[in-house]
Amino acid sequence: MHPHLKPLIELQAVDLRLIGIREKLAQFPKRLAEVEARVAAAKHEVAAAKESLLTGQKERKTYEMDVDQWKERAKKYRNQTGEVKSNEAYKALLHEIQNAEDEIAKAEDRLLERMVSGEQYDREVKAAEVRVKEVEAVAARERQAIQAEYNATQRELTAADAVRKAAMGAVPEDLVDHYERIAKRHGGIALAEIRGEGCGQCGVHIRPHVIQQLQRENNDAFFHCETCTRILYYGADPGLTGTSASATVSAGDAPNSPAHEK
Ligand SMILES: [Zn+2]
Repeated sequence: MHPHLKPLIELQAVDLRLIGIREKLAQFPKRLAEVEARVAAAKHEVAAAKESLLTGQKERKTYEMDVDQWKERAKKYRNQTGEVKSNEAYKALLHEIQNAEDEIAKAEDRLLERMVSGEQYDREVKAAEVRVKEVEAVAARERQAIQAEYNATQRELTAADAVRKAAMGAVPEDLVDHYERIAKRHGGIALAEIRGEGCGQCGVHIRPHVIQQLQRENNDAFFHCETCTRILYYGADPGLTGTSASATVSAGDAPNSPAHEK
């Protein structure tokens, strides 16, 4: 195996891990926003319930005034009955009194209705306030859990960055540039393992002499897949760490996942 391939494979493994870590980090603002949205929705319910209660109280005042006004009028008409001279005028007055009594009854009905619904609004406000407290308690726990997870992911990022630096240090700078150019074009995957007789990433057939060359212990040449241009390597070197080997396996699935098609 080419002496620079092993650190490149390690670089590839840590880069794949970094892709996952960065995607996870990118999700945190959205996750926090979802928590805040639930709290805001619960608070909005309280505000809406209070608004209904307030409207109900205003209407109640209006209906109370209606009742008073009609009672006042009925009283005024009754007082006038002693002063009328004609039968016609007396009848008309009685009619007015009756009308006022009807209006009093209607206004009292409306008032009663308002008082009943007012109690209902009052209960709704209290229930909504209890719900806000519950939602806020849950949100506080969620925020804490998300923050802890975020901190852990940040530590993971720092550790992976350190591994990346070490892997990069073992490879000449121009080779790192070459690797990064390919990785940028191919969803972060610059390396392709030979699988069977094909490229482990794009599946295209690889010429047998290239495979033979790559299999040689003393090979010191780089070969690229003619189709996807990735740097080819043959099999996991027994000296490779477990993480690198498992990462190259997962690398095979990566091109199909939407996360890598950006
Ligand atoms: Zn390929």
